[in-house]
Amino acid sequence: MHFHILTLFPEMVMDGLHTSITGRAVKNGHITIDATNIRDFAGNKHGHVDDYPYGGGAGMVMQPGPVFDAYQHVCDKIQNRKSAGMNLKPEDEKKVRVVYMTPQGTVFNQSLAEDLAKEEDLILLCGHYEGIDERVLDRIVTDHISIGDYVLTGGELPAMVVIDAVSRLVPGVLNNDVSAEFETFHDHLLEYPQYTRPEEFMGEKVPAVLLSGHHKNIEAWRYEQSVMRTKERRPDLWELHDKRNKKDQ
Ligand code: SAM
Repeated sequence: MHFHILTLFPEMVMDGLHTSITGRAVKNGHITIDATNIRDFAGNKHGHVDDYPYGGGAGMVMQPGPVFDAYQHVCDKIQNRKSAGMNLKPEDEKKVRVVYMTPQGTVFNQSLAEDLAKEEDLILLCGHYEGIDERVLDRIVTDHISIGDYVLTGGELPAMVVIDAVSRLVPGVLNNDVSAEFETFHDHLLEYPQYTRPEEFMGEKVPAVLLSGHHKNIEAWRYEQSVMRTKERRPDLWELHDKRNKKDQ
């Protein structure tokens, strides 16, 4: 899968994402991540990409021209990669999804991550200041996504959150394929508690069932723990799980 980030701060996203598991996934060729600096398309020698809002008000707004040109540059790159040796006709082209990171979008969750993970290419657009001129958003954006009901200074951290969550669903990115399947949010449940060595820590022992080697009992204990946790910490999720269970019966 190929992630393309449109940003005013490429070093911020590239440094963060080339670390740990996403960094290893890039190295192993499971994903690619590139960042295009919108400022490179400023069209003036000062590199200005923002201006005062029409109608007045606080802050600055990112201008539509540089954002559109940066987007076009990325689309051309994608097109060149896809058509290399493939003789693609324009009608074979599928429009690449463009996600604008915005506090006004759909709140990101695991099922949205699963949906985005089906794409071959994904463009993530990061705003700054008071946001981006609406006319270019209307023209290029397919999805508006928020990472939560709070306002950040820029879309870079949200884009990193989305790329992290989506890339770990790409086959091969996690060493152990089952680890993405049976974890929190799978089936609207939170994951059970996890334990590792030592067997005893500050006088507290690992639950005996986990040392029993009895797989059926372990599975039952884990399910029970998941249920308890979900009911207590996320009653909204529990309601969804319960509803689905009743529907399946
Ligand atoms: N004036 C905008 C509003 O009220 O909706 C907020 C602009 S915010 C200061 C600057 C940029 O940060 C946004 O364009 C967006 O890209 C990003 N951003 C801020 N909070 C976000 C969130 N919760 N989720 C996703 N992106 C966010």
